[in-house]
Amino acid sequence: MSVSRRTFLGLSMAALPAWGQVRPALRYLQPGDAGYEEARQPFNSIILLRPGRIACCRTEADVIAAVRHAKEAGLPVAIKSGGHDFHGFSLNDGGLLVELSGMAARALDAKTGHFTAGPGLKLRDCYSALIPRGRFLPAGSCGGVGLSGLTLGGGYGLFSREFGLTCDHLLSVRLVDGQGEVRDSRDEPELLWACRGGGNGNFGIVTSFTFETRAAPPTLASRKFVAKGLDARGLARCMERWFEIAAALPEPCFSAVILNGSQATVLLTSTKSADGPAFVTASKALLQAGFTSKGPLTRPFARALVTYEGRPGPLPFDNVSAGYYRGHDDLKSAAAGICETVRATPGLIFQVNTLGGAIARGPDSAYPHREFPFLGELQAYWEKGAIPAKLAAGHASVRAALEAAGIRRHYRNYPDPRLADWQTAYFPGTYERLQKLKATLDPDDRFRHPQSVRLPGN
Ligand SMILES: Cc1cc2nc3c(=O)[nH]c(=O)nc-3n(C[C@H](O)[C@H](O)[C@H](O)COP(=O)(O)OP(=O)(O)OC[C@H]3O[C@@H](n4cnc5c(N)ncnc54)[C@H](O)[C@@H]3O)c2cc1C
Repeated sequence: MSVSRRTFLGLSMAALPAWGQVRPALRYLQPGDAGYEEARQPFNSIILLRPGRIACCRTEADVIAAVRHAKEAGLPVAIKSGGHDFHGFSLNDGGLLVELSGMAARALDAKTGHFTAGPGLKLRDCYSALIPRGRFLPAGSCGGVGLSGLTLGGGYGLFSREFGLTCDHLLSVRLVDGQGEVRDSRDEPELLWACRGGGNGNFGIVTSFTFETRAAPPTLASRKFVAKGLDARGLARCMERWFEIAAALPEPCFSAVILNGSQATVLLTSTKSADGPAFVTASKALLQAGFTSKGPLTRPFARALVTYEGRPGPLPFDNVSAGYYRGHDDLKSAAAGICETVRATPGLIFQVNTLGGAIARGPDSAYPHREFPFLGELQAYWEKGAIPAKLAAGHASVRAALEAAGIRRHYRNYPDPRLADWQTAYFPGTYERLQKLKATLDPDDRFRHPQSVRLPGN
């Protein structure tokens, strides 16, 4: 056990109640208890895993107590913050769930611009805490996504090319390890390295994150381009042209191409003016490529972010990483087949987003994909029940096409439980170092899910 200047007998000073205050006891919920279903519910409604007990934590001391309880009872521990994991890696069947939505404290230090957040904070609350005070943290767009899971797996969004990933803004974390001891990355820099992209449910429970923030841009310019009624070749042509246009964008711009049925949609955003030369050049090129558009919109920054909040859940879906690319060439052999499948499969969406820019210059970290300027995502949505057979077949066919094209690098925050070699896909070059930290922080493998970092030798 490491006893640092910030921990004493395994309890941090921050975790202790103020003198004279009585802290309400940690609540454990079991199936059938009021509140159990709500605490369990993940964003993806097809996940039916049911923990045997849920510890609804409100303080770091609760988290310590919950982990010690799991150790005594020999239970595996799952960790749930925002609950947006694509495939339920924040739940388990019959074990203990540490549920953190009640730990959503936030504090901005006006002098340093440093922002300290509890693990239960959602992106929408992060933005609303910062932007009115002129600051912001570059993160993802969907308001309900947890800042915890997003940061611990990387965290990209409309502003990553200009400022870097969310995890690149991380300055320190506090974490309760597998023995129920508090660790602080200010004493253990390896923990910070790991939590920048390699920390999802692997070593312990992060109870506090401190980030550096950026000056909030005053406005966000955006423009949507649509091409409808396309056949598979038309979709493929639009995507190829988009790769060329997107590769030339300056760092304040983000873009995504979304293929859905017979339609290709392109989103273009910029923290600079829509009248600027780069935005205008890209817009002209997209119009020449056959897209139509109603024109650009420039909105106050906070209001613009709200429009990207996404659909409320829970809802059924099967989304996975479709891999990292250097450019269209990486997808060339697969593109025609992917477009044919998407064209023929209702509910299947193939999307590519821009990365690059400041991400490539980020700090040394467990996130190992900095050289890739594009990230793909394969999405499947349906109304209710199990995934329709045709949609499942289309999904499998696109995954097979990507595999055959040699696309083997994947984003940890878009996990795919079917990936055989997920260690190398998510953490090429950093996995063994993560395993060493696992051995130090969680030698009993208390924290585990289907793709959690294994102990060395496993
Ligand atoms: C609708 C939607 C939109 C998304 N948009 C984006 C986007 O714009 N950009 C992007 O990069 N990603 C995006 N994602 C992916 C998202 O980053 C991941 O799903 C992320 O892991 C979710 O974090 P969470 O806290 O909500 O999830 P949870 O399900 O609570 O947790 C996810 C994982 O992190 C671990 N974890 C959670 N909290 C802690 C903690 N305190 N300590 C240690 N481990 C913890 C869990 O064990 C689990 O493995 C999106 C996902 C969805 C469903």
